[in-house]
Amino acid sequence: MTSPDNSAGTPSTPRLRASLETFPPYVPGKEPKRIDGLTPFKLSSNENYLEPLPAVIDAMAAHAKDPALYPDDAALALRTELAARLGVSIDELIVTTGASELLVALTQITSDATTEAIYPWPSFEMYPQTTGLAGAKRVEVPVRDDGRHDLDAMAAAITDNTSLIILCSPNNPTGPALRDDEVRRFLTQVPDHVLVALDEAYWEFATAEGVVGGVELVADHPNVVLVRTFSKAHALAGLRVGYALAHEAVIQGLFKAVIPFGVTDMSQAAAQESLRHSDEVDVRAKEIASVRDDFAHALRDQGWDVPEAQGNFVWLPLGELSSAFEDACVEQAVAVRNLGDGVRISIGQREGLDRVLALASVFRSEHFG
Ligand SMILES: *Cc1c(COP(=O)(O)O)cnc(C)c1O
Repeated sequence: MTSPDNSAGTPSTPRLRASLETFPPYVPGKEPKRIDGLTPFKLSSNENYLEPLPAVIDAMAAHAKDPALYPDDAALALRTELAARLGVSIDELIVTTGASELLVALTQITSDATTEAIYPWPSFEMYPQTTGLAGAKRVEVPVRDDGRHDLDAMAAAITDNTSLIILCSPNNPTGPALRDDEVRRFLTQVPDHVLVALDEAYWEFATAEGVVGGVELVADHPNVVLVRTFSKAHALAGLRVGYALAHEAVIQGLFKAVIPFGVTDMSQAAAQESLRHSDEVDVRAKEIASVRDDFAHALRDQGWDVPEAQGNFVWLPLGELSSAFEDACVEQAVAVRNLGDGVRISIGQREGLDRVLALASVFRSEHFG
């Protein structure tokens, strides 16, 4: 068999979309380095350091024989449970393979090479990926020095081509949560045809006064989509279940953009069972929040400038010292997330956090005298 003549003599690369050159790939959190005598801690992915609740593990086991069949594509049982708990109709809900698939689908239904997407920065690393892949112009609005969204600047960035705005509360990685009054004021400046996604991946950990309530916001605004996940507070990151709440027209659009049968029966059953134990999930989330507050407080006592932390993580805006700090953690068998502008530390077991506090103190005296 002869291969087609390639005049240069070297195999040619397929022509991929030019938009792929405009954004970096998603980089997952690293594993901790193994060091003799030190228990390793992975504080780099904002996972829940607790296991799923026992009843949830039982529910998964009960579905262990399901995989020969396709799952329920409509996720009817899970959506029914969610609808009852949120006080909404199931037609306002869609279940997806993690909130990640939702972010892709939201971009697919709003964005192309003629549109613009606005989101805060630094924020979740998937926003540049999904909007960039769609070919949209990415308008990254820097967060303020205190890590909060600059909503005035975001409103000012809206043009006739804006089709999607993403808000993240609490903001990953900087930490602060949006307040209800500021978001409602912001929405008065957003044209009705612009879709606003409110990413509440960490809402269960938020404890501040007046934090934005996505469910009520959606009821009042047909252009708002609430994005949530079972990955963080429910400790089900490995099962890939997320959901959106929005008005029916938006949900119907999303149904066309998601992959059929994405969420397995086992994942749906686990999420449903975990929802039934929402009280326990909430207690555990608030315990993590309390450890987070202690940790942030201890860092501030050392002199660090730590923004309001409302998720299950704390942000150190280290700038150029980010890599040096990450390296110091690596050598203590702790993996943290270096995002270039700073380092994000997920809340984990006290032993790991105490180790970070000890090295942070040494780091300060070495670099700030
Ligand atoms: C973790 C995270 C998600 C999505 O996680 P999934 O595991 O895909 O549900 C979405 N948004 C933010 C801000 C996150 O941190």
